[in-house]
Amino acid sequence: GMGSRKPHVAIFPSAGMGHLIPSAEFAKRLSADHGFTVTFITCKWMFSGFRLQQAYSERIASLRGFDVRFVQLPHVEIEEEAQHMKVETLVSKLLEKSKGFVESALTSLQIDDSFSPLSAFITDFFCSTMFDVTAKLHIPTYLFFTSPASLLSVMLCLPKLASETQVSFKDADFSIEVAGVPPIPAKDLPTPVQDRSDEVFYWFVHHSSRLREATGILLNTFEELESEQIKALREGKVNPSDPRRMPHIYPVGPLISSSPVEYEADCLKWLDNQAPSSVLFVSFGSGVVMSREQITELALGLDASGHRFLWVLRSPSSTFLSINDSDVSELLPQGFEDRCKDRGVVVPSWAPQIPILSHPSTRGFLSHCGWNSSLESISHGVPMIAWPVFAEQKMNKILLVNDFKVALEAKMDSDGFVKREEVERAVRELMEGEAGMAVRERTRELKEKAASALAEGGSSYKAMADAVSDWGKHAANSAATVPD
Ligand code: UDP
Repeated sequence: GMGSRKPHVAIFPSAGMGHLIPSAEFAKRLSADHGFTVTFITCKWMFSGFRLQQAYSERIASLRGFDVRFVQLPHVEIEEEAQHMKVETLVSKLLEKSKGFVESALTSLQIDDSFSPLSAFITDFFCSTMFDVTAKLHIPTYLFFTSPASLLSVMLCLPKLASETQVSFKDADFSIEVAGVPPIPAKDLPTPVQDRSDEVFYWFVHHSSRLREATGILLNTFEELESEQIKALREGKVNPSDPRRMPHIYPVGPLISSSPVEYEADCLKWLDNQAPSSVLFVSFGSGVVMSREQITELALGLDASGHRFLWVLRSPSSTFLSINDSDVSELLPQGFEDRCKDRGVVVPSWAPQIPILSHPSTRGFLSHCGWNSSLESISHGVPMIAWPVFAEQKMNKILLVNDFKVALEAKMDSDGFVKREEVERAVRELMEGEAGMAVRERTRELKEKAASALAEGGSSYKAMADAVSDWGKHAANSAATVPD
């Protein structure tokens, strides 16, 4: 009967490790701490190339032992030529095409007696098309926003910004003023909204315009990190001219995975043999692909810095959705490996980031400023060098450097290129300089604050409990209106 079944939610993260990873973590918490059954909907086919498939499978395997069950959406394709399409456009189109499958998956769940009716459907920014499905099926829909609260605020204003100006943000010399958010130069807004002549701009405006259809928005951030931003959102100060209600805001982060107890990898064995707090971790997340020139420059800068490093290097022939493995030696400048063999390792394509960040030998993180990486670094008390490349990374950099003060900036040319001298300077400053000490100190403070937010009675703990209790109310309401 009804009483013996656990409460049930469905989680549907869109493409990319940056969405899959925090969503998997979210599923774990709901199952372990709140007694939920979770149906986890995945599009496995969006992760291609050996490394990404392996990373995908590892994440899915990490959910074993929790009450999480999987629904895998079948492969879909679009008719158009996808070659020159921005990845966010492609993903948005593929998701539109997957709508019917999601509808039938949710419908069969709703009539399956072994589960309680879904008390919530939780999805992300790129899946706004699924709001049509859940509205039809009367399932309360929540958004899990996997970027900072600041970006949510900017996105809530995007449709208005887009209608008020004709110029592409890449050509604009003004800053965007949004309540609670530090001013963001238009050029530092997410890459997909830079150019109005690209279709992806309109996809972003479209997804943004649907944000308020969510019953609530779960944020992978915490009060103590983005207090002004969260306050402005809650008080309805963000784009108040929008007559629709502002969804309830739940800052439940930082949701990052915990370090697996035993994880075998050569680079971890190498770290074991280094002095405490001596190694710079260098990694650009799951999507950044660097040019050969930039790889050379970074290599020579690391070499010149004299510091120890663990560098995850990806072939320039990879793409966002597919990693091409290649021989790293072939990518590195002549003589580099010989000169650095005693103080550095270069790992091809993908490395276990959490075990590396939590390793006592790790002292700093040269990062692309992806939001998950930023939260992971803060949670482990590791200060950063901010080297943003695309997506919302430039905006994250502003937060990390100016607002949270946990990172030093790698200065770049107007085309984003970072010279070897600058790599050397930034690495030395982080590893041995006074500015490095200051960000290290501040990162340690925020590490403590992040831990308290998640601990029983903390802000994120309470926000999670509020979300769960609100879902319970929806479930009670639907039980009252739909006869069993
Ligand atoms: N990651 C990893 N190993 C790698 C690269 C990335 O484990 O070699 C993980 C990283 O820990 C983070 C996620 O992949 O959880 C990347 O997310 P982020 O938001 O930092 O950047 P994105 O990949 O979305 O640009």
